[in-house]
Amino acid sequence: MSAVRGERYDSSGLAEVVTQALDGNRRAIARLITVVEQGGQAARDVLARVYPRTGRAHLIGVTGAPGSGKSTLVNEMAKAYRRQGLEVGIVAVDPTSPFSGGAILGDRIRMRDVATDPHIFIRSMATRGSLGGLARATADAARVLDAAGYPVILIETVGAGQSEVEIAQFAHTTVVLQVPASGDEIQAIKAGILEVADIIVVNKADLPGADNAAAALEAMLDLNSVPTRLHHGRHLTAQPPAGDGDSTAQHWRPPVLKTSALRGTGVPELIDAIQAHREHQQRSGFSRLKERERVEGELREIMSRALLGELLHHLSAAELEHAVTRIVAREQDPYTAAHVLMAQARLPQDKKESTEYR
Ligand code: GDP
Repeated sequence: MSAVRGERYDSSGLAEVVTQALDGNRRAIARLITVVEQGGQAARDVLARVYPRTGRAHLIGVTGAPGSGKSTLVNEMAKAYRRQGLEVGIVAVDPTSPFSGGAILGDRIRMRDVATDPHIFIRSMATRGSLGGLARATADAARVLDAAGYPVILIETVGAGQSEVEIAQFAHTTVVLQVPASGDEIQAIKAGILEVADIIVVNKADLPGADNAAAALEAMLDLNSVPTRLHHGRHLTAQPPAGDGDSTAQHWRPPVLKTSALRGTGVPELIDAIQAHREHQQRSGFSRLKERERVEGELREIMSRALLGELLHHLSAAELEHAVTRIVAREQDPYTAAHVLMAQARLPQDKKESTEYR
């Protein structure tokens, strides 16, 4: 974060790019996404300008293990939305790792047959920074596309860590991909996926084992059924609004669907289920609640990141290193060290010298 401190950018030039992006200019959109991806003052400026125009798109998260067919399925989903006459934005989170080097997804995106459609905008995000940073950049890229008028935005992520959970919180509808599995593999399906899934898809249904996997997932849903699951493990600060007098009317049970992205089968049913979920969320008032909950979480996260930035700004690298050395040497525990560092960071500079490392 401190790397962007003091950066210079042309605010009026940016305003012009924002105007062009809001008009749907693809080059301008691409530029804005690059700016928000990099963070800093320019990113905040862009977000402040586009934010009033956001909130119209349906944000759809598609998550699943590498190789489960996300890319292929997103491709087919985009084509299905195009057949409905809708423009589609795609934000793919590039699983840059020390192993893949990040080139794989880039290549795959170039191979997508939707890539040349002028009504589909594809952007691959790189996992350069921390995972928290990635979730933020992905959400902000989706906001740029939302403001630019894309009514459907598909956010494709590798279902693994905390950042996918965060992206699932940001999306209105989260589709979790599974693949056909043998008996043993079904046991290994993590219950955690049910937490974030609004719709579960067994992709590669052209392969054996799809019915098994679907039945196992249904059984897991029966076990895990929680009447008010919308909060992804966090507590709502408000009560759900009164529905039609029937609390079960508010409960959304994730449907388990089967698709073959390779053959394009099951995709229309998936699109229908996504629409049904959206309507259910709006009708029950959950989408408004979820948005409030998400915004609160985002506010807290922005503030804690800003506070950390402030603290680190007032600490020297030597002070941090010294603390690390002491913790590693078991001379101090991490909690005490953090408190000492925070107190040091808050001290006025002139008093600091004498108390250093105490
Ligand atoms: P991702 O890593 O989750 O994005 O997965 P990809 O979309 O790149 O797909 C991984 C591999 O699975 C590719 O070789 C695809 O052709 C293949 N694949 C994707 N969907 C299907 C499907 O429905 N059936 C079969 N048999 N293969 C599929």
